[in-house]
Amino acid sequence: MAKIKNIHAYEIIDSRGYPTIEGMLTLDTGQQVTTSIPAGTSVGKYEAVELRDGDPKRFEGLGVSRSVMYINELIAPKLVGVSPTKQQEVDYWLIKADGTPSKSHLGANTLLTVSQLLVKAAAVEAGLPLFKYINTLYESMFKSHIDIDRVPSPIFNIINGGKHANNNLEFQEFQIIPSSSFSFSKSYEMGIDLFHELKKVLEYRNANISVGEEGGLAPNFSTNLDAIEVIQETIVQKNLKTGMDVFLGMDIAASHFFKDDRYIIKDRAHPLKKDEYLQFILKFIADYSLLIIEDPLQEDDWDSWKKLSASVSDRIYLVGDDLLSTNREKLKKAIKEKACSTILIKPNQIGTITETLEVVDIARKNNFNYIVSHRSGETNDTFIADFAVGIQSDFVKFGAPSRGERVAKYNRLWQIEREELK
Ligand code: PEP
Ligand code: MG
Repeated sequence: MAKIKNIHAYEIIDSRGYPTIEGMLTLDTGQQVTTSIPAGTSVGKYEAVELRDGDPKRFEGLGVSRSVMYINELIAPKLVGVSPTKQQEVDYWLIKADGTPSKSHLGANTLLTVSQLLVKAAAVEAGLPLFKYINTLYESMFKSHIDIDRVPSPIFNIINGGKHANNNLEFQEFQIIPSSSFSFSKSYEMGIDLFHELKKVLEYRNANISVGEEGGLAPNFSTNLDAIEVIQETIVQKNLKTGMDVFLGMDIAASHFFKDDRYIIKDRAHPLKKDEYLQFILKFIADYSLLIIEDPLQEDDWDSWKKLSASVSDRIYLVGDDLLSTNREKLKKAIKEKACSTILIKPNQIGTITETLEVVDIARKNNFNYIVSHRSGETNDTFIADFAVGIQSDFVKFGAPSRGERVAKYNRLWQIEREELK
């Protein structure tokens, strides 16, 4: 059985132009794997903490040299000679070494680098494609089998707003979701066609066609609803039917425009009280037959979440991202209080793959839906594409079908469908 010979970490630059960590693990067989870590821009307040240097002289304080030093000098020497299959043992050792509930001592980014390296190295050692190894890892941890029979359907974020663009939209992601009856390749092609058509529709209106952090277009509009209307118009232009061929979705990311107990959006002339805003969201969901709505409410506004969930959860995917932060306790609370129906899964919100799989297992055992997601700050690592296939995520959310770090993941899904699941 192969053992870890060396782990080496260093800084690289992410899709936003800020540093992040890349790690390389070498086995005593000579086999080598690398992985790198994404970062959020619209970060929820309950996420595990990302360690940054805070030194204003380097990368505006966002350097990760301390994380790199922790990996190279504290963690790596202790793992030499250890089998990469010891995922749970190593992850729990890392959690203990950090010693804080929020991973603020060593940093979730530090821990996740090592955790992901182990998964990749164990897959290589087993001679399995990464998604198959992740599937067997889940099975060995929870004694529960997941049949791999499809590549998850993509959610394409084709208009960026909120913290992901410097346009004037408060809502963060305007999404299209090709029908899950289609193969991944057909969905991908449809997403790409609609993305290019949307560009034409915007150009025709003299709107800006520059892109935001996740590769979606970032025009200005008078209201948030105008942006979704333009997407509807685009779907009609391509002779497709909303609600049949393709569905609409949103990540509202409401925590970021909630101030002084009010929701502030340009669709209404005054700041909205919680109940007024809830009525707005209910009408929005109904008017546009949304299939998915993520974080429509602020991350502490549990009462509104429960009210909304009672009226829509049986019909749509009501997704908790900032609300749940890939956190076991938050997920258990949401299940108990029936606050939503779906959890967004982002490994770096919690910091290790073992804990991420524990969250997935709680979701599965409670018939809760789960969607694997990228972050706005990404690298070209395709780890989460394999992760999503291995755990048969209900959907995947990897941004627009544009920009290298986004399409790297969609292209990996395409490859899995074409070459591995035929
Ligand atoms: C999101 O909010 O779902 C998202 C992917 O954005 P970020 O990575 O900025 O949190
Ligand atoms: Mg979100």
